[in-house]
Amino acid sequence: MSSTLRFKMVDEASKKQPLRIVPPAERPSEFFGRKVFGKDAMKEYLPKDVYRKMCDVIDNAVPFDPAMADAVADGMKRWAMKLGATHYTHWFQPLTEGTAEKHDGFVEHDGKGGMVEKFEGKLLVQQEPDASSFPSGGIRSTFEARGYSAWDPTSPVFVIADTLMIPTIFIAYTGESLDYKAPLKKALYAIDKAATAVAQYFYPDVQRVRTNLGWEQEYFLVDESLYSARPDLIMTGRTLLGHESAKNQQMDDHYFGSIPKRVENFMRDLEIHALELGIPCKTRHNEAAPNQFELAPIFEECNLAIDHNMLIMSVMKKIARKHGFRCLLHEKPFKGINGSGKHNNWSLSTDTGILLHAPGKTSLDNLRFVTFIVETLKAVYDHNGLLKASIMSASNAHRLGAHEAPPAIISSFLGKTVDDLLDHLENNMNDEIKVRSKKALKLDIPSIPELLIDNTDRNRTSPFAFTGNRFEFRAIGSEANSASAMIALNTAVAEALASFKQRVDALIGKGEVKEKAILRIIKEDIKYCKPIRFNGNGYSDEWKAEAKERGLDCESSCPIIFDHYLKPESISMFESQNVMNKFELQARNEIKWETYTKKIQIEARIFGDICMNHIIPVITNYQTLLLDNVHKMEQVFQASEAERLTANNKGIIREISEHETFIIENVNRMIEARKVANVIESNRERAIAYHDTVAPLIEEIRYHVDKLETIVDDKLWPLPKYRELLFII
Ligand code: ADP
Ligand code: MG
Repeated sequence: MSSTLRFKMVDEASKKQPLRIVPPAERPSEFFGRKVFGKDAMKEYLPKDVYRKMCDVIDNAVPFDPAMADAVADGMKRWAMKLGATHYTHWFQPLTEGTAEKHDGFVEHDGKGGMVEKFEGKLLVQQEPDASSFPSGGIRSTFEARGYSAWDPTSPVFVIADTLMIPTIFIAYTGESLDYKAPLKKALYAIDKAATAVAQYFYPDVQRVRTNLGWEQEYFLVDESLYSARPDLIMTGRTLLGHESAKNQQMDDHYFGSIPKRVENFMRDLEIHALELGIPCKTRHNEAAPNQFELAPIFEECNLAIDHNMLIMSVMKKIARKHGFRCLLHEKPFKGINGSGKHNNWSLSTDTGILLHAPGKTSLDNLRFVTFIVETLKAVYDHNGLLKASIMSASNAHRLGAHEAPPAIISSFLGKTVDDLLDHLENNMNDEIKVRSKKALKLDIPSIPELLIDNTDRNRTSPFAFTGNRFEFRAIGSEANSASAMIALNTAVAEALASFKQRVDALIGKGEVKEKAILRIIKEDIKYCKPIRFNGNGYSDEWKAEAKERGLDCESSCPIIFDHYLKPESISMFESQNVMNKFELQARNEIKWETYTKKIQIEARIFGDICMNHIIPVITNYQTLLLDNVHKMEQVFQASEAERLTANNKGIIREISEHETFIIENVNRMIEARKVANVIESNRERAIAYHDTVAPLIEEIRYHVDKLETIVDDKLWPLPKYRELLFII
């Protein structure tokens, strides 16, 4: 790209007329869920008994009766056609990033030479996409089994453009899961079972426990024309070079600032689409970094919330293009400013109320609160390394521990009130607690002022913070499928609750009164999982040292962190809760390591190309201009004067040569390092080689390229700079 073109693009970008979005005449409450086959649509399009059974499937986890598949499919088809749908697809979440779909038309031969629109139950319930290209970590080749997708009736179908989208799980014929949704559903089932059993100690009527998730999606917007001139953004989603601009986020003037008009139009358009798709968008604001924003819906049941997050990520990208933007979901698109995360607000609720809320009306309520808090902490403590593995990726690794996001150590912040409460229980409760009668339990829990609980001091440095009625798991990456973290967290909490129940029951079996038994186990667990509680500054170096002493996992190499999935305690956790077996875990890790390698490989390749084809030619050109100037000066001026007058340019010429030599030498070293790594057989070892020998070179070379950016004539610089990418909107 010539410099003239670059400036023309910047000029056009800044002049671009924002696309005005006229909101629909109706209010959001009227068009919310219009494109979703929800209960209202079901009531209208399904026979009465089928509708009633579908409600049972959705609300009460009753298995779907295949006998009604045809009726459901027919109702769906008629409803979808009314919205203009001509096609349908199973929509699933393979172990790549994003979602997968393959559209088929409703049309079939009518047997009389014409066509009819048809959609049968068997096509709704199960399909066999040609899935040979999806990563399986060896599951399919070993078992010579194909993959099939199966409808998840608990997540409603929806229409996008002309297609009926059917959320499905994706599994091998032999039953192993090949996606995120299947193990997520198993994890949610496990925690439902374990948490219900424990909740019944307190409220015998509880039938089910539901997991809630409220995600907060951060993202960047970049003008599309500038984006198109950055091969690194196009290929990897992040900038691999670019000197910090003079102004970035140091003025704190972007966070919660007024939203630029063009962005507001984008947001409004996005929200309309999202609301129509049943995604309950609520919050939007500017984030800390320039051109960084956030969107958050109202929390929903975890499985549905994840479908909605996957959906919104793809809708965001589409709508952004309509507005002349590119939406960057990468965790660290720009060096030197904040990256993007996706806080996962997690809680449990019963058919009657939220389990992580206090204070309750009775002592028993408070005991329930403490039980669920402590057992969650125990889960996080027991599996802190695994939880870190569940959020780790090549791209999120840039963000964690970078003084803007939680460190690469999992700990939990509870806020002073809850912290004091746990300390009090640990130190003051002895076995002589007076249990007068079941009803009049004298529990030595200081009263918990509601206000304080709801306004727990916010510790932004904590990766797993209690925020009043939920835990906020903050380490998740903006680009990630949150299912990965939710599978690990829910399974871990299910395991902790199951073990809690076993231990309490054992005491009861020995004649202990229930409440006393619960208290005794809680006390034991508060002591046991104390090391996970940390209220200080998670960004500090002292914390790293202390965390190590406390025995928390402090590993920071991404491929090694993945090992946690295969530790005996992780395998035993996943197997005991029926979420995944050892073989599935192994297969998934192979995919994780392979994906890691591929990402670094692509970055290294494109970065090498940019260095050699964009940067080196431009800097040598500029150097030649300077040399020409020096020669001419020497001809015009006396030697002694010429020496003085050309000293500066000669200095720049030398500087350019030194950076150039470093870049060329190290791009070659990087190629050699890849060659060495590429022949390593084991996925794990290859990923480690990429982490240790290839990735650091990208950073080292970048330093020199970024220095050159500040030296070379701005007109010649071939790529849009940070001050353009981040400030033109
Ligand atoms: P903040 O940035 O202050 O943490 P936001 O309003 O951006 O808060 O996001 C909070 C998210 O937490 C929203 O998605 C909200 O619906 C969700 N949330 C609120 N209460 C709960 C709860 N009990 N369980 C799960 N999620 C919740
Ligand atoms: Mg939050």
